[in-house]
Amino acid sequence: MIIHRQNRAMIILLAATFFIYPLLAFAQRPAASQEVKYSPQLASEIKKVQQAALESDYAYRQLAHLSNNIGPRLSGSPQAQAAVEYVAAELRKLGLEVQLEKCMVPHWVRGEEAGALTEYPSMAPNTTQKIALTALGGSVATPADGLTAEVVVVNNFEELEALGRNRVVGKIVLFNAKFDQRLADNGFEGQAYGQAVIYRGIGASAAARLGAVAALNRSVGGADYRLPHTGALRYADDAPKIPAAAVASEDADLIAHLVSEGKVRMRLLLTPQTLPDAVSYNVVADLKGSEHPEQIVIVSGHLDSWDLGRGAIDDGAGVAIAMQTAQLFKQLHLRPKRTIRVIAWMNEENGLAGGRAYANDHKDEMANHFAAIESDLGAGHPLGFYAQGKPEILTLLQPLTVILQTQGAGVTRLVEETGSDVAPLGAAGVPTFAPIQDARTYFNYHHTAADTLDKVNPKELQENCAVVAALAYALASMTQSLPR
Ligand SMILES: [Zn+2]
Repeated sequence: MIIHRQNRAMIILLAATFFIYPLLAFAQRPAASQEVKYSPQLASEIKKVQQAALESDYAYRQLAHLSNNIGPRLSGSPQAQAAVEYVAAELRKLGLEVQLEKCMVPHWVRGEEAGALTEYPSMAPNTTQKIALTALGGSVATPADGLTAEVVVVNNFEELEALGRNRVVGKIVLFNAKFDQRLADNGFEGQAYGQAVIYRGIGASAAARLGAVAALNRSVGGADYRLPHTGALRYADDAPKIPAAAVASEDADLIAHLVSEGKVRMRLLLTPQTLPDAVSYNVVADLKGSEHPEQIVIVSGHLDSWDLGRGAIDDGAGVAIAMQTAQLFKQLHLRPKRTIRVIAWMNEENGLAGGRAYANDHKDEMANHFAAIESDLGAGHPLGFYAQGKPEILTLLQPLTVILQTQGAGVTRLVEETGSDVAPLGAAGVPTFAPIQDARTYFNYHHTAADTLDKVNPKELQENCAVVAALAYALASMTQSLPR
């Protein structure tokens, strides 16, 4: 998940306002003095990779298998293990050297989950109202027969503090922070997510410090079809662990409405279990470089997913794009100078154990990690790529950008982080990259039961494969090295 994003909508707004000057101001080509050239052979090979990607259905077939035949792949689950074995076997079939690199992952299992309002103003006698909710990943359970308590509603942490311990102790706290759909509609979905996800992440501990018995958060996402969005929470060491769930946005509105009129009590039942940490693996597969096999360009996505849907957009698509990259080079009999390393990361969703284990296990080889790409924002139409590192990197990739512009993907942006699994590599000085994807609707389905294969448009998946494979090929073949 990319947090830091450039101001795409502002650029569009400026272009509309000033009309002519922005054509100069936002032109992509560098000044002649800094013009970078690739050999005609390299340029033609990049174009071949791009074209073949736009015509291939390999990635979609891989994604369909991961989503439909294997299904949801939460860390520690049998499906996660099956996915590791499947991806490893497919990459071996392509002729790659495959290793399973061990990491210990949390093993959290969702149980029953139910919520109902049992008391509220003007209720019909002897009735309840069902609440659509889902446990947050990592949540502890309620007592086996559930708990019932009064609900208080806050919009942010300041309001929680203002309530104080006396009005929070013994209650269920609902954090009702809204996902800002207008931000998402304008291409700022990362910001919209970041603003609201904090309550899912640390809200339970904040409520528990004031004596709350459970915490609820308004689902972090758009598309109000009464779907709760799960996701990880992080208990603080200095607070009791209380059960926590996300409620559908409509149900958050309902509770807030009723609480504004009077006393509301809710029954909550959650029976998740946290089992001992499990052994799992990153799948690491090399297509050895022809001239500098020790230098590595990573192409990656994360293989684990939440359990409610089928992990198609998050992040089966990213894994399929990475697999397709290696498949294309094999299909076209292209062998880049540097080693292409396909990685399917484990445990991005609830621990980042895979990304951390890799950075730790390979810490002495960071100088040989030339670059790392991760795709983890769905598979919407790509507009170009993000880069994290020195600004000169974008200049060195100018000839690639010109090629990508032919498919409408010539935009480049420097950001502070491109993907959570490659972030430890970025912190160690490795330049990292991600496709810039149209993610305006990504958070409609993110972490819900609706993250299914139909949400991926096959043509847009091909476009993403073209961007990532062309970028990987340029990085693995260019004569220059990247500044770091
Ligand atoms: Zn993801």
